[in-house]
Amino acid sequence: MALKGKNAIITGSTSGIGLGIARALAAEGVNVMLNGLGDAGEIEKTRAAVAQEFGVKVGYHGANMLEPAEIRDMVAKTGAEFGSVDILVNNAGIQFVSPVEDFPDEKWEQILRINLSASFYATKAVIPGMKKNGWGRIVNISSAHSLVASPFKSAYVAAKHGVAGFTKTVALEVATHKITMNSIAPGYVWTPLVERQIPDTMKARNMNEEQVKKEVLLAAQPTKEFVTVEQVAALTVFLCSDAAASMTGTTYSIDGGWTAQ
Ligand code: NAD
Repeated sequence: MALKGKNAIITGSTSGIGLGIARALAAEGVNVMLNGLGDAGEIEKTRAAVAQEFGVKVGYHGANMLEPAEIRDMVAKTGAEFGSVDILVNNAGIQFVSPVEDFPDEKWEQILRINLSASFYATKAVIPGMKKNGWGRIVNISSAHSLVASPFKSAYVAAKHGVAGFTKTVALEVATHKITMNSIAPGYVWTPLVERQIPDTMKARNMNEEQVKKEVLLAAQPTKEFVTVEQVAALTVFLCSDAAASMTGTTYSIDGGWTAQ
């Protein structure tokens, strides 16, 4: 429980990978600020359940990652409520799939802002406090698409490659302050986002659920298994630990062998 008493913000933690990371950090005794979109009643249930299960402080801030002022407010309020922001996990992200010549301008802008620029604004806001305290951990949840591309995902792939470059740059800037910044690059992770794609793909391709999983979603993933939320969360916790103090400026793949090909 070396992380006990530290304070973390996890963006996009009302669902999927972000919620898994929030739970894993809370299990280590970390106070967590949840963030993300969704039904207010459901979010409050999630917040209260994490607080009760792990006995840590759990807050919620509804900052929209499209809005720099809201991101700054989330960091300021978390610092005021918890006393500091020691860990930042930039996780919120969206996807849109289209040939580049038809890619809607507003979708391109949204994806760049949520998947890349939001990490910049949150990082910019947390670094002064981390420098003052002489300790910090920033983990960006990027994607296998920060290393390789797939067609029709131009905005997502561009943003995630941007995250890899941002990670290296900030890591160099803060290296002597006991602050690290790393990225995690998952392949396909079993989350509600992925689960929701299955019925439509079954219909569109006239396949059963198993065929969609193995032949479509996991086509590029040699293990033919989804990465789990818990595996991504465990790597995040490790990157926050003192054992990872010398690991910085790097992207760690957790993709069932996808990018080894
Ligand atoms: P998800 O849809 O389950 O969760 C996304 C979270 O981001 C939600 O909490 C949502 O409310 C939040 N969010 C979306 N737009 C937001 C906005 N404008 N402001 C604030 N919050 C916003 O998705 P997930 O699969 O858990 O993805 C999480 C991260 O992992 C993303 O960055 C995604 O690119 C990355 N990733 C996912 C997979 C996968 O297969 N699921 C693979 C590689 C990388």
